[in-house]
Amino acid sequence: MKQKNAWLKYDESQTKEIFSFNEGYKNFISDCKTERECVYEIIKQAEKEGYTNLVSIIKEKRKLKPGDKVYYNNMDKAIALFLIGEKPLEEGLKILGAHIDSPRIDIKQNPLYEDTDMTLLDTHYYGGIKKYQWVTLPLALHGVVVKKDGTKLNIVIGEDENDPVIGITDLLIHLAGAQMEKKAAKVIEGEDLNVLIGSMPIDVDDKDAVKANIINILKDKYNIEEQDFISAELEVVPAGKARDYGIDRSMVMGYGQDDRVCAYTSMKALFELDKTDRTCACILVDKEEIGSVGASGMHSKFFENAVAEIMDLLGDYSELKLRRTLQNSHMLSSDVSAAFDPNYPAVMEKKNSAYFGKGMVFNKYTGSRGKYNSNDANPEYIAKLRKIMEDNDISFQTAELGKVDEGGGGTIAYIMANYNMEVVDSGVAVLNMHAPWEITSKVDVYETMKGYVAFLKEI
Ligand code: MN
Ligand code: MN
Repeated sequence: MKQKNAWLKYDESQTKEIFSFNEGYKNFISDCKTERECVYEIIKQAEKEGYTNLVSIIKEKRKLKPGDKVYYNNMDKAIALFLIGEKPLEEGLKILGAHIDSPRIDIKQNPLYEDTDMTLLDTHYYGGIKKYQWVTLPLALHGVVVKKDGTKLNIVIGEDENDPVIGITDLLIHLAGAQMEKKAAKVIEGEDLNVLIGSMPIDVDDKDAVKANIINILKDKYNIEEQDFISAELEVVPAGKARDYGIDRSMVMGYGQDDRVCAYTSMKALFELDKTDRTCACILVDKEEIGSVGASGMHSKFFENAVAEIMDLLGDYSELKLRRTLQNSHMLSSDVSAAFDPNYPAVMEKKNSAYFGKGMVFNKYTGSRGKYNSNDANPEYIAKLRKIMEDNDISFQTAELGKVDEGGGGTIAYIMANYNMEVVDSGVAVLNMHAPWEITSKVDVYETMKGYVAFLKEI
């Protein structure tokens, strides 16, 4: 099965539109490097589109009606958006789901120490990373510090061009003889991902005078005490903005495109609709990279609770109706797929790989070693999607995550499938997945957004 490159479908003015859509996307991933930053920005954009906070509707005991737009914030780390449809909820939802957490390096709870007149932060990495990729890069610190009185300080250090950056050092090549003999997984060890943040002492008679200086700066500039690290969530991420990639500017290089590329396109697709037959939902969750666990992950009851609340506000709640609603739903579980990399053809099977420029990717299954742990989507459902994509001239491709028995991955699809709904994995192909700087194709980003719109309108 041969497929045309999606760029070739578009004339000059449409190509401009693709580039302009990607400008918005680049801004999103440049500004939103933590799940919280994503939630804040999504709320900002949703309110502009006429979405209101579900919590205030519940409080004011207002009712919902078709055409209403609401969002439900889960602890500032996950969010669900709903566009209420004309038909009873029981007929099922049309759901777009993606995750807004990305691999990174988290600061430990007791992180600060001094060694040989340098101050460092001890870390524990989050998600699957090749640790050697994260050294010698300009890194930034993002996150929250919560004071004992509940005050929340939002921290971003390293993004403004006048900000300092921080980072993790690596051994000079001259002394790396033994290191270079090690296996890649051991070249940089997890416990050695220590972030260098200072080297200037203050004039005190203290063996930790450099650390004391940092503590003073944290106190004066950010109102943070050393004890406050206990109740903080600080994430070390690559510093700097997303950029155009390639001399033809056809690609985007940026941090956290897994899976903010699907989150952004899902959100934008939902914003394209002002009315719908069946209710549309967009759920953007945390913790996918570590197993979708915790209150803000997909395994949490949050989404189910949100649907129950909405049903109640429509004056039509019952446990049975809630179950029917979820069972009758259709979902695109949207996550990135591995793009074919001509530098590493050995891990891919060419007929069943995702390629840049070939549009939205559908993965019938992800999983590994005999489809293990994978949501294997029904062909009946895929047939419907195929027709919708073709009718709307959406470029799409099907893919597996690498050769059989080469590796594999997971998404949130199988969790939603537990409600007995139709779910398939879909999304955007990415190069450098889980590296500090990931790459996507602009036309794929655009095509995927269009595909989501077609799904919401026609499934
Ligand atoms: Mn992902
Ligand atoms: Mn991932």
